[in-house]
Amino acid sequence: MAAKTSINSLKRTFSDRNSDSENESDNHIIAYRSNPDAPRLCPYLDTINRQFLDFDFEKLCSVSLSRINVYACLVCGKYFQGRGTNTHAYTHSVAESHHVFLNLHTLKFYCLPDNYEIVDSSLDDIKYVLNPTFGRDQIAQLDTSDKQSRAIDGSMYSPGIVGLNNIKANDYCNVILQALSHVTPLRNYFLRESNYSHVKRPPGDSSYLLVQRFGELMRKLWNPRNFKAHVSPHEMLQAVVLWSKKCFQFTEQSDPIDFLSWFLNALHIALNGSKKGDSSIIYKTFLGQMRIYTRKIPPLELEESQRSELLNTVEYGETVTESPFLYLTCDLPPPPLFKDPFDENIIPQVNLYSLLNKFNAVTEKEYKTYKENFMKRFEITELPPYLILYIKRFTKNTFFVEKNPTIVNFPVNIFAIAGMLISGIF
Ligand SMILES: [Zn+2]
Repeated sequence: MAAKTSINSLKRTFSDRNSDSENESDNHIIAYRSNPDAPRLCPYLDTINRQFLDFDFEKLCSVSLSRINVYACLVCGKYFQGRGTNTHAYTHSVAESHHVFLNLHTLKFYCLPDNYEIVDSSLDDIKYVLNPTFGRDQIAQLDTSDKQSRAIDGSMYSPGIVGLNNIKANDYCNVILQALSHVTPLRNYFLRESNYSHVKRPPGDSSYLLVQRFGELMRKLWNPRNFKAHVSPHEMLQAVVLWSKKCFQFTEQSDPIDFLSWFLNALHIALNGSKKGDSSIIYKTFLGQMRIYTRKIPPLELEESQRSELLNTVEYGETVTESPFLYLTCDLPPPPLFKDPFDENIIPQVNLYSLLNKFNAVTEKEYKTYKENFMKRFEITELPPYLILYIKRFTKNTFFVEKNPTIVNFPVNIFAIAGMLISGIF
């Protein structure tokens, strides 16, 4: 009875300590056994090597490759399954004399092979790196604070402005993930897991994993207390490979725009978005509306009189369709075909305004299918809060992919762009 009371009072002391002394450095090393009677000191906490800890990779046992009940050895950073006698973690603790382990699912610490739980607030920083969380006040201050953070190796970094590893050929995804992590409403939504943890998907549908992993990546990119100044998108990209049915892989290059387009739609669907503009954070942030005017061009081989006759028919009249968009595709003028007298190609330059003329409701653009030609005009009827502009540089022909090197000049003041598009509307 007496022992029970002392454990309860001890637990109370721990919970008090965890709740109110988050920033206090408390070097007292205390641990208690989860089952046995007496509290117990864990003598191994100073064997933990924070520089070896990396929680960005798939939570797999390094021996059995199982995802179930995986522990991280906090001495060498490797993952092992189990905790009981003869499990991989247990064997590792005996063979290597590594004693402090973290359960990657429950976030509880254990000393092996003795097998007792360690409760100590000096380990909170490790839990935070595995699962960073953000309060509302903290999120509100992200864009005004220029406070730098210090990684374990002493290097300084600004939260949110950290590198993403290129695992093999996933830099095409990284640029998109980096860009999206700086879109304020999207970032703020994903920093708070409670915003999307209740979203349910049909059984067997793994798209929910995509949402979870993207949220985790956002929280790691903005973590002010990370152990290193870079993040690996490994787990996030595994969810991408799975959900895109290997359309996008990190071992093979793809076009960033294809990834962006797929990713925004996949997230929207996984968040149970519908056709309504406010049905997901994706549509709320990026969805705009345009009107497309299309008219068919009579075949050029016909005589002039026949052509003008055709133009008066319904078939060749202008049709109007309303179309939602998540980004705008801007076309570059074709690069010069011939070299200048000095035998060099001067890289042409163009102003973004002239590219955006495509959407002024007046400019017509020709589209060809294998048997018919169309002229289209585009009119923006509703701008999204965040406008994604895609400048189309690559064209594929039968033989190869060509890159248009034209430099696009644009004002640093983005309001000027919005103003220009709005004046196109009214
Ligand atoms: Zn180890």
